[in-house]
Amino acid sequence: MTEITDHLREIRDRVAHATRSANRTDPVTIVAVSKGQPPAAVDAAWQAGQRDFGESYVQEALPKIAALAGRDIVWHFVGRLQANKTRAVAEAFAWVHTLDREKLGARLNDQRPHYAPPLNVLIQVNLSGEEQKAGAAQEEVPGLARAVLAMPKLRLRGLMTLPPKDGDAGEWFRRLAALQARLRADGIPLDTLSMGMSADFEAAIAAGSTCVRIGTAIFGARGTAG
Ligand SMILES: *Cc1c(COP(=O)(O)O)cnc(C)c1O
Repeated sequence: MTEITDHLREIRDRVAHATRSANRTDPVTIVAVSKGQPPAAVDAAWQAGQRDFGESYVQEALPKIAALAGRDIVWHFVGRLQANKTRAVAEAFAWVHTLDREKLGARLNDQRPHYAPPLNVLIQVNLSGEEQKAGAAQEEVPGLARAVLAMPKLRLRGLMTLPPKDGDAGEWFRRLAALQARLRADGIPLDTLSMGMSADFEAAIAAGSTCVRIGTAIFGARGTAG
């Protein structure tokens, strides 16, 4: 587990360097994506000061979150959102990065416990139009954003995207940043851009990412669950 500590130190250095290189002074949050990793790996990263963790599969995440209850961990749901899992997501997570339909937003809003603060929500945008990929189409985003703004138990924070596997990820990151800028100019308050993973987070930071989601570069290869 000392490897996790070393990897985290290296990732923090690289994030800081990429931020400076982009002449930015605003903070970039590292979300350690722990899908496919046991609770002990999350604990090792937590011992090393990591606080934000991401999970993709509700069934895998719930026992892990329970095993680590009591630690000051901020859990981010970064997986595909399914209607039959929204209640568990609304109850167990602080952030959702993958909202792409108003109906799912309405379920999360209804199911967020009354005692919990509003759920932080990012709209996932499918910029490339790949059919198998989740995410709202670009032209659907303003309407969806306004719908989420009207939901009291959700707090709209920003946008998220997953670029196509091939090609220049930086181009897609710049497009998402431009979309965010247009929405803000239209009066929609957004402070978060979730983009960048192990292989491309430096390009994402150069394009304005405020939240990078990093799995294998922190934890190493994933088990079968991931
Ligand atoms: C798995 C996953 C990550 C982390 O990917 P790595 O390449 O391991 O850094 C980030 N974001 C999402 C949405 C993921 O599913």
